[in-house]
Amino acid sequence: MQHSLIQPQKPDPIRAMGIIALNGMFDEHDAEGVIRKAAELFGDKLAVVSSFGADSVALLHLVSLVNPDLPVFFLDTGMHFPETRAHVEVLKARLGLSDVRTLVPDSRDLVRFDPDGTLWEGDPDSCCHIRKTEPLNAALEGFSAWITGRKRFQTAERGVLPHFELTSDDRIKVNPLAYWAEADVAAHKSDHDLPEHPLFSEGFTSIGCAPCTSAIGEGEDARAGRWRGFNKAECGIHFDVSGEIAPPQIREAPMLFKKGRFVTDPFKPLGENANLKGVRYVHVPLSKVKDNLDAIRQNPHPLGLLIEASDRVEDVAEDLDRFSSVAVSFPAFGDGRGYSTARLLRERYGYRGEIRAVGDVLTDQIGFMARCGFDAFAVANDATKKALEKGELAEISVYMQPVGLTEVPVGTRPFLRKPAEPVARRP
Ligand code: SF4
Repeated sequence: MQHSLIQPQKPDPIRAMGIIALNGMFDEHDAEGVIRKAAELFGDKLAVVSSFGADSVALLHLVSLVNPDLPVFFLDTGMHFPETRAHVEVLKARLGLSDVRTLVPDSRDLVRFDPDGTLWEGDPDSCCHIRKTEPLNAALEGFSAWITGRKRFQTAERGVLPHFELTSDDRIKVNPLAYWAEADVAAHKSDHDLPEHPLFSEGFTSIGCAPCTSAIGEGEDARAGRWRGFNKAECGIHFDVSGEIAPPQIREAPMLFKKGRFVTDPFKPLGENANLKGVRYVHVPLSKVKDNLDAIRQNPHPLGLLIEASDRVEDVAEDLDRFSSVAVSFPAFGDGRGYSTARLLRERYGYRGEIRAVGDVLTDQIGFMARCGFDAFAVANDATKKALEKGELAEISVYMQPVGLTEVPVGTRPFLRKPAEPVARRP
């Protein structure tokens, strides 16, 4: 087993600039337009990677409208449900896909690392690595870009996906459905009378290998049934949401509390001498953003903004939309400036991306933070982590001082209980 067949190269800055333009060219839901553009740009250097899972038919249908002869890679790990293999044949015939290529793991790796087929139980990252990442790495030789079916709604980790990503090996990853909601996928399948995966009706909303897939319950993320019970959310080919094909050992324990559970944080610490034109998935301090605006505006990757307690969000108001996440620092329990920052972001500037609390984040504060617009919490405090894991989050049902656009003060008469008028919002 090798951990990287493709040596990362420095991304070409001209291509990096192109990504910025590409991501601005399409309506959020124009998935077919994204695929057409990718086909036009990359020609026979473009491939599709599909799991032939629950939602795959929507993407593959759009691909077939653009070019049914595009190569489609199916990673046959040897652990799929028989229903998935049958679904491959159904979709090939129904959509006229002429070039579905089945990728299988290297038999020497299986003999050496997973002779009895139980590696997934103890080390699912390595299992995915030999059964998915390595075969895909080899197959992508000779290709410049690949299309995926990932969508923002699927998990908190995927919540910042763009249409086009420049990967660390200088390929382009194309995510035509990035902005589609679950309802868009369902509507597309219904409008075009597309065949469902046989397990979809049994609650399998995301389908991978049989040992690592289960049906989901009400209110769970669409991918909650994948690797249930494991600290794992991506299979390896999307291990790093920046698009980097990375070995499994690099992940850190999750500590980001979002949508009611701890998730793997796609953001990493910013290196001291990082090149701000090329970094990705880091929170850049506001002072650095101000001093390096050109580099930040040229950077094609998802970026975050870090606002310290003494910073003024007004100083970067014009560039807020450039950031997919804003981290607001709480240096001490008694320092409430971060609450005001979050309210400014949501109410004055209409910021809709992730706002995360970082620093001294404790259980008692989280309810108040959520009222001010925070939707993610980087929790370092052990007691707070344990309380959140047990679901012990204090509810705040009575508001003496309402915040935001929806809360009303306690004691008002029913006919007066209407939200406050919005303060000046950004257009
Ligand atoms: S999904 Fe499970 S069985 Fe499939 S390759 Fe990954 S760990 Fe192995």
